[in-house]
Amino acid sequence: MADVSNRRVLGIETEYGISALGQPAGEELHPMQLSNHVVKAYGSVSGREAGWDYESETPLRDVRGYEVSREQAHPDQLTDSDLGMANVILTNGARLYVDHAHPEYSGPEVTSALDVVRYDRAGDLIMAIAGQEASRRLGRPVRLYKNNTDGKGVSYGTHENYLLDRRTPFDRIIRQFSPFLVTRQVFTGAGRVGIGQSSDTAGFQLSQRADFFEAEVGLETTLNRPIINTRDEPHADAGRYRRLHVITGDANLSEISTYLKVGTAALALHVIEAGSLGDDLRLRHSVPAMQQVSHDLSVGTVLDLADGRRMTAIDIQEAYLLACRKWVGEQTVGEAGTTAEMITEWQDILERWQHVLDTLRNDPMQLADQLDWVAKLALLESYRRRDDLGWDAAKLSLIDLQYTDVDPRRSLFQALISRGKMRRLVDDDQIQEARLRPPTETRAYFRGRVMEKFSAAVVAASWDSVILDVPGWPALQRIPLLDPLRGTSAQVKALIDSSETVAELFEALGLGGPAD
Ligand code: ATP
Ligand code: MG
Ligand code: MG
Repeated sequence: MADVSNRRVLGIETEYGISALGQPAGEELHPMQLSNHVVKAYGSVSGREAGWDYESETPLRDVRGYEVSREQAHPDQLTDSDLGMANVILTNGARLYVDHAHPEYSGPEVTSALDVVRYDRAGDLIMAIAGQEASRRLGRPVRLYKNNTDGKGVSYGTHENYLLDRRTPFDRIIRQFSPFLVTRQVFTGAGRVGIGQSSDTAGFQLSQRADFFEAEVGLETTLNRPIINTRDEPHADAGRYRRLHVITGDANLSEISTYLKVGTAALALHVIEAGSLGDDLRLRHSVPAMQQVSHDLSVGTVLDLADGRRMTAIDIQEAYLLACRKWVGEQTVGEAGTTAEMITEWQDILERWQHVLDTLRNDPMQLADQLDWVAKLALLESYRRRDDLGWDAAKLSLIDLQYTDVDPRRSLFQALISRGKMRRLVDDDQIQEARLRPPTETRAYFRGRVMEKFSAAVVAASWDSVILDVPGWPALQRIPLLDPLRGTSAQVKALIDSSETVAELFEALGLGGPAD
């Protein structure tokens, strides 16, 4: 098999905040039920190509219910999907479901940071459509927010997933990746009004999630949250791969924040896998540092390193940037699966990363058109000045929340975009396209196209397989998709295009027949 180790498989999942307004007393829906309505509502309208007109019902087209394989489920570990919660796969290869009483969008696997942005923004659009339709059906306004805390002590996650080589020693990832995660908040933070898990202290901080981290390493994602999560379900050949599950990140609205969040992390992981970080950047106290960095609006706090040195978050990021720049300089087109496009994107990430760090050193507020926390802070400061508000003013928490409202008519983030005050990396047409069609470079292409063309035959689907009921065949047919880099557009587009029926697809794929 060709060495494609430089082609990193990535995906982001986001649990959206949810609430309903004006719920009649005694008829309040549990957030889990509400989330279920949202997911189902999307299923009922997603066949429509565009727009905000939900007057007439259209049949379900690009969505179909599916159950993730429960092979490993234990009766004492019942999950939301076992309780009859909606769990659907979309024609763009994503999964839309109910998790921890939140509607969650798990973007399809992609191999570039820009594709992560496209599919992440498509998730926001999907939630906007779903929320709109759920409101109409339920007769009560349903609000969905791309944030990570309700400000009252509850946090919900945005997880990044990076495919790693199983041979990379995990203790090296712990040592070398945690300082990166702690310090990257200076550009990945989505901004938050309130300090402390329950916002007991008035103020503003860089990150939504930082105050919820209590451990350095661990398996949990909702309790005693660790900076490095040891969850290890690769949805791929476990002998070759590990899926690194990063739970520290904020849900970003800004396209540049998302792009840098995943682009820099993917590069740092290349350096760590190559064993070429060199510098020992371990922090003396990672968990308190997570909060220290988030609470410091001047982004100048000096952190203690384990070896006695003292560096700011920006200095530490600069050290990673340097190592990444060196690593990118050593890559050659044609080796380890590297393409010219991959090198172009890496260089773009390095350049933007450098620009952001340089600007953060001089005047962070100049990044108000690029980074969420700065954009949000600038907005809040303008209200504070105008109305002479202290950080404990309820209005400021409301603005924080409204920045993240997925409905473009209410979103303050969207308002900034409309006024040309937020730089973009993708346009609305590309987001609409990503809502409906899968990425081309991974197995998500096959999954999405099968949902689009043969959804009536799909019995079940998970990240690593699709199970089909072929009319007239005695047994269900399972198509394994264990390799995330197989099932790409280059490999299967012509076969899917030319197949009129699912039986023809099997024939085209060379996968048996009714007698097998
Ligand atoms: P939980 O929701 O409990 O955290 P989970 O992490 O397994 O569970 P899913 O919601 O199923 O989450 O989402 C999986 C995410 O991982 C998706 O965004 C998907 O694109 C991505 N992904 C799937 N397979 C791989 C892989 N082999 N490598 C990297 N990313 C992957
Ligand atoms: Mg998930
Ligand atoms: Mg997850």
